[in-house]
Amino acid sequence: MAGRGHGTVRSVSFDLPVPGSHVPVSADRCALLAEARAMDDLVALRHALHRTPEIGLELPVTQATVIAALEGLGLEITRGEALDSVTAVLRGGLPGPAVLLRGDMDALPVTEDTGEAFTSQHDGIMHACGHDLHMAGLVGAARLLAARREELPGSVVFMFQPGEEGYHGARLMIEEGVLDAAGERVVAAYGVHVFSAHLPTGVVAARPGTLMAASDQLFVRVIGKGGHGSKPHLAADPIPVAAEIVLALQSAVTRQFDAHDPVVVSVGRLAAGTIDNVIPEIAELDATVRTFSPAQHAMIPERLVRLVENIAAAHGLTADVRYERGYPVTVNDAGEVGRAARVSREVLGAEGWFDLPDPVAGAEDFSYVLEQVPGAYLFVAATPRELDPETAPYNHSAQARFDDDAVPVSAAVLAALALDRLAQG
Ligand SMILES: [Zn+2]
Repeated sequence: MAGRGHGTVRSVSFDLPVPGSHVPVSADRCALLAEARAMDDLVALRHALHRTPEIGLELPVTQATVIAALEGLGLEITRGEALDSVTAVLRGGLPGPAVLLRGDMDALPVTEDTGEAFTSQHDGIMHACGHDLHMAGLVGAARLLAARREELPGSVVFMFQPGEEGYHGARLMIEEGVLDAAGERVVAAYGVHVFSAHLPTGVVAARPGTLMAASDQLFVRVIGKGGHGSKPHLAADPIPVAAEIVLALQSAVTRQFDAHDPVVVSVGRLAAGTIDNVIPEIAELDATVRTFSPAQHAMIPERLVRLVENIAAAHGLTADVRYERGYPVTVNDAGEVGRAARVSREVLGAEGWFDLPDPVAGAEDFSYVLEQVPGAYLFVAATPRELDPETAPYNHSAQARFDDDAVPVSAAVLAALALDRLAQG
């Protein structure tokens, strides 16, 4: 995997030649941002989507809003079956490959507390992760590219995806054929995620190799035999066994996995018993498991389950173990990140790109797409200009606010990436 295991990954230079770098930068590339900013209704679209957030895989209002916004662009539009997705295909006037651009659509069970004029009208639901900006940005990219249809050497698949927040929407869309929606497998895929803090607005950031973690869950029930606290030998006490498991999980992390390829296991819940002198029958523990490479992600369930079951068995107890897979590791293609760095500077200026030094420990289901197709997932800074990026409320907060300018920035960068990749042939 690119960008890992080379010892020094903290500072990565993108001044290397990348595929497609021979393609001359047209003045048009630089005009994309101005053109996207001139689309007033794009920000209005973001506000409309923000007012009517929906959760999960069923987003009928959101889906209808997106389809209406794409009207008149001459796209081939299909709706999902298992989910309210929108797949739109733009056929260019010249022959060439197909690329995919993605925006997720779902909101979160959060009660909005931003005071924005376009605040959520759905009680207890909020676009607190900025997916409203992703949709509006992708609509903007579709407009920019549709306006260049005649010179476009290939096709663009626009993937509007529900259910990113834990519903595996990207996997469902892949199962329904989004990667082949243009009639052939896309050769590259790009997506963006906005952030309401940490980076000053107007900057795009990413890194080659691992960008985001895989996030799994471990659920354990240690099953013993209850009894009187004064006669533990007549019972089978699950509490010391559970305690041993908690510690052994940390030993396993440091002894069984490469120190240069981190694994994080945190037991977030440990529960047993009712009173001091009663040995309970059952002890439970739940843990989050984060890995940063596909190799670690592949091997960790078997190792943790083996550890838990055998510690219980060693004490004559049993353990019910459930290991739930979350999203895979999000892995960026190094060449495509190089392209994204160059294209972002072309669109936004020399200060428009930031080399992200480390992966982030959150997870993202665009990882399913990047498992199949080389591509890049990019972070777009959307900290409101009046706020300090260090202290601004972060994504998923009820107070999280996003700078509207991230919408045209996303539109221009996504469109430029598609143009650049298609020009490569
Ligand atoms: Zn998100």
